[in-house]
Amino acid sequence: MRKFSERESGRLTEVRCNCCGRALSVKNGILEEECIRAETPFGFFSRKDGQIHRFDLCEDCYDRLTKAFRIPIEIEERTEVL
Ligand SMILES: [Zn+2]
Repeated sequence: MRKFSERESGRLTEVRCNCCGRALSVKNGILEEECIRAETPFGFFSRKDGQIHRFDLCEDCYDRLTKAFRIPIEIEERTEVL
């Protein structure tokens, strides 16, 4: 869940993990910790046609959720880190 200020032209003010509710560190409009942002525009073959769903997960919740998967996630080492 993300909140933006209206006065500072949409500056990021708050990010909370939708799973555990924890407030993630945001300073001067910049998110300063890992956050998994998901956005899914549901289509015609879904039960939510026409809806866009968005949520944020902290890294701890991401780890806990993905560990429960029956098929492990694919992991690739990044060779270029900026
Ligand atoms: Zn969380």
